Amino acid sequence: MGNADTNSRIALNIHELQTAIAKAAERAGRDAKDIRLVAVSKTVGDQQIQAAITAGLKEFGENRSKQFAERQASFNDVAWHFIGRIQTNKIKDFVGTAALVHSVASERVLRAIAKRAEQLGLIQSLLIEVNTAHEASKDGVSPHELPSLLEVAQDLPTVRVQGLMTVAPIASELEVQRCFADLRELSEQMQQSYAGVTNLALAELSMGMSDDFLLAIREGATILRIGRSIWR
Ligand SMILES: *Cc1c(COP(=O)(O)O)cnc(C)c1O
Repeated sequence: MGNADTNSRIALNIHELQTAIAKAAERAGRDAKDIRLVAVSKTVGDQQIQAAITAGLKEFGENRSKQFAERQASFNDVAWHFIGRIQTNKIKDFVGTAALVHSVASERVLRAIAKRAEQLGLIQSLLIEVNTAHEASKDGVSPHELPSLLEVAQDLPTVRVQGLMTVAPIASELEVQRCFADLRELSEQMQQSYAGVTNLALAELSMGMSDDFLLAIREGATILRIGRSIWR
């Protein structure tokens, strides 16, 4: 397919996606403006990213630190989210340049990010990834480990925990919905426990991908991470 075809196909996909998001928000009695779309570009090239920017998208996500750094440098007029598994020796690739780091899942990583942010003289916004599927294969802290991680975070002034993130399992609609509902309930509990702690904002819920974003909107998602539905 030619460039023009690719560009118009991506623009159409984005339009359809935004329409679906708006309808789902309305059905849930929510304002679509409270739901941000992060385009996950890990599987596509620069031309597709440019097409999505031209079509109006302003937030992108990558799950590998090297590709994150390259793309953030190439397309630095849009916001970049780091959404992948974190290795502490690679955090230089995204701390300070990521609008939001979605996938913090251990005290070691949290402290490493805080230290790097301190060196750079900035505050890094991040989310804690929670394993709501209770699957050993999934990344994220278990729900009962979350409070102790937030206890650590509240004493680290160079990080700001903006909320929670989860990846739902490939499972029945009911099971996926339970994961999203669990994340929302956990978020509400934590917001109560840490009300007034300035670096624990906790309002964001990053959940929902191409196959399950409608359910995620229903359960309160504020950030959707979507790849395939945009690039297909
Ligand atoms: C790839 C990826 C996505 C996007 O998934 P799609 O099914 O392509 O929409 C979202 N979140 C994470 C963490 C990913 O790795």
